[in-house]
Amino acid sequence: MTPLHIQTPLIESRALAQARQTVLLKLEALQPPGSFKIRGIGLACQEHIRRGAKRLICSSGGNAGIAVAYAGHRLGVPVVVVVPETTTARARALIKSEQAELIIHGASWHDANERAKSMVTATDAFLHPFDDPLLWQGHSTMIDEVAAAGVRPDAVILSVGGGGLLCGVLEGMHRHGWRDAPVIAVETIGADAFFQSIQAGARIELKEITSIATSLGARQVCEQAFDWSQRHPIRSIVVPDRSAVSACLRFLLDHRILVEPACGAALAALYENVPQIAGFKSILVIVCGGATATMEQLPSWAAQVH
Ligand SMILES: *Cc1c(COP(=O)(O)O)cnc(C)c1O
Repeated sequence: MTPLHIQTPLIESRALAQARQTVLLKLEALQPPGSFKIRGIGLACQEHIRRGAKRLICSSGGNAGIAVAYAGHRLGVPVVVVVPETTTARARALIKSEQAELIIHGASWHDANERAKSMVTATDAFLHPFDDPLLWQGHSTMIDEVAAAGVRPDAVILSVGGGGLLCGVLEGMHRHGWRDAPVIAVETIGADAFFQSIQAGARIELKEITSIATSLGARQVCEQAFDWSQRHPIRSIVVPDRSAVSACLRFLLDHRILVEPACGAALAALYENVPQIAGFKSILVIVCGGATATMEQLPSWAAQVH
């Protein structure tokens, strides 16, 4: 099966590097549907269809929903995306532009998710945005590409929402024997379920999401993400929304690529030179992207985080 994602460029960033440091960017922002999500979602959709699914259902108003809509369109299978009323006009438009049926239901993701699940019949596949081994397998291919380029970094920086990206990257790292390279897992304040779980020594659930980085807004990370924190060196850090947005603005200037604050969080670790990255000579950054970032949205995010 031909994958639905593309092999993304791996480029060196002088702008993000400090003296004596090499920073490599894995440009997942360049995936056609705008984020890394198509790697895992694309694989999961293909697999469900191979097993006989006739329709794809998802409840994400963000990049997962956009990726499912894209995958269904490419594979010629109908898609239903149920999103809460809070979903931005931009995300709604992107989902619709891939010919998916968009249902707006409820005040929160929880309501939309309940509605989506209630629609699932025996011939439908339900796509979870982060908690699915098929997704992790698909995400892990980004590390295969880095390894195939002959690169073995000292550390990997990425953003954490529900932890699907983290699980996929770690699966790929372990497949290639990168067992010692720490992962710097970045969240924003107010979307820091992973950080708080590590502090508490158990998987906690946030009462609410207060960060503007909505793509990181999982109230609880998947169990597998927490398990990884017990068997791989992971440095969990949090940055304020202000730093994430400012990193998006700087990244646009430095690399001419527009990303969501969810991705800006990971970039902020470098721009702000956090102590957790001190001493690493070669750092791989997963530039996860995000399709809902626009030239209009970015200043409005900046205005919200003063
Ligand atoms: C989904 C997403 C994340 C977080 O990924 P998880 O698998 O939920 O941890 C980060 N950035 C962007 C742009 C996303 O779409």
